Amino acid sequence: MVLILDEEKFAKDLYDGRNHEVKSILQKTGYVSRYLLHSLHKSDDDTYKETIEWLRNNHTNFDESYYSNFISDAVKIAHKRPFYNIDNIKITQLELDIISSLNNLRAEKILFVLLCMAKQQRDIYGFTNGLVRYSITDLCKMARISVPSEDREYILHYIIQHGVLGYPLKNDTKCLIVKFIDNKNDAVLQINDIDCMELAYVYLNWKNNGQGFTRCQKCNRLCKQSKTRPRKYCELCAPTVISEQKRVWAEKSRKNLTRQNE
Ligand SMILES: [Zn+2]
Repeated sequence: MVLILDEEKFAKDLYDGRNHEVKSILQKTGYVSRYLLHSLHKSDDDTYKETIEWLRNNHTNFDESYYSNFISDAVKIAHKRPFYNIDNIKITQLELDIISSLNNLRAEKILFVLLCMAKQQRDIYGFTNGLVRYSITDLCKMARISVPSEDREYILHYIIQHGVLGYPLKNDTKCLIVKFIDNKNDAVLQINDIDCMELAYVYLNWKNNGQGFTRCQKCNRLCKQSKTRPRKYCELCAPTVISEQKRVWAEKSRKNLTRQNE
């Protein structure tokens, strides 16, 4: 689960098989049909057919008969949903100071992610006053927190007690209000789409002055530095880099062998 800034790029990466963030068939259908319609300018019929074709190749146990109505609805909905694109999310020193004053790492990471989400949703939906729509599961994933569900509510409660988060007037359990958005000062952090993949690390990296974190040499994603062996690649890139290196070594030793035998 990541916060998306450039939705078209996100959908293209999914379509091309480079994006493994999206697991649900409903979300895959949404992005792929919108990509076919808006970016590849396919007709409705072709969007429908090619979405099915894509799912057949890219989703395990895809049952076409079961999803056909759903996919034709998705094509209709796709027309009303062009891609949004946000350059970056700007965070100020004042906001960071308020977050770190919570003095509880889990709560701080949650609040940082909520602040980023509120700013993203302000740009996409025009939400004002810090309103943020969230799901507790996604929120904890983005904050890299794994605790039982009762404890998640407890963390939110802890933050609300500090007065920096609130509930909207209309009792809506899926929304919160981030009360400390700073529109006056300049940004000290500008979070781009790569940093959006690791929001918790962006916060910790700021808090620890860059200690303990490094950037993947392939995709530039922030990752935790290992204490024993310096890490060059993130968890996602490491397997492909290693298999590529193995392939190159095998090629080299095969060439050396043929040379020796000549
Ligand atoms: Zn990487």
